[in-house]
Amino acid sequence: MRKPMIAGNWKLNKTIAEARELSGDLAKCLANFEAVDIVVAPVFTSLAAVQEMIKGTAIKLAGQNCYPEETGAFTGEVSPLMLKDAGCEYVIIGHSERRQLLEESDTFINQKIIKALEAGLKPILCIGETLQERENGDMLDVLANQVKGGLANLSATHMADVVIAYEPVWAIGTGKTASDEQAQEAHSFIRGLLQGMFTKEVAFATRILYGGSVKPSNVDGLMAQDDIDGALVGGASLKAEDFIRLVRFE
Ligand code: PGA
Repeated sequence: MRKPMIAGNWKLNKTIAEARELSGDLAKCLANFEAVDIVVAPVFTSLAAVQEMIKGTAIKLAGQNCYPEETGAFTGEVSPLMLKDAGCEYVIIGHSERRQLLEESDTFINQKIIKALEAGLKPILCIGETLQERENGDMLDVLANQVKGGLANLSATHMADVVIAYEPVWAIGTGKTASDEQAQEAHSFIRGLLQGMFTKEVAFATRILYGGSVKPSNVDGLMAQDDIDGALVGGASLKAEDFIRLVRFE
């Protein structure tokens, strides 16, 4: 069966001192919690401090983005190699905020996924439709393009290290969560796409997280859905108490 994952995307929040405090609180409560893969993604400047706090615990570290080159003349960028070096096991790729604010394309996202895998990092590929796309009836086409574009040229073996996060853009940071049924419908569609692109086994084994206003009051219903294997959490990952409750979903 698929091991659930609860991942905290801290976005552009927390100074080094604050990140140390939050990760220290998580480390105290969740040090030996192995039933769920617990991941935190702080800003780059806090990676080292957080790594120090969670070392030896069940909590894993992720980058929030990477650039698809190892080293070189790419001022301001951070590579998968550098993330790995900083202690990351995962990297979030293609978050909708980057797709929208920085116009990241599926092709660029695909390059990052490939380079991340080459460096031994496990990518968390984010996909999701906007409200307008949903209302226009384009949701399935949008998801299909993002999955096919993002995972182009990958093998079934690569897929063992890939996590997908379905995050409807209209639900991110808005307090509006997709209903359990809406999320399940999208997840089941995504799993079907994976079966078409790869194999039935890959489709069955790949973890698909839900993201978009996940909080203690809605996590249990979402996690009860057949095709929802975890959550990628923004706002509610910034308070230790809330995040710990999410990890201990029922
Ligand atoms: P949210 O963010 O939980 O604050 O809606 C989720 C995300 O963007 O990953």
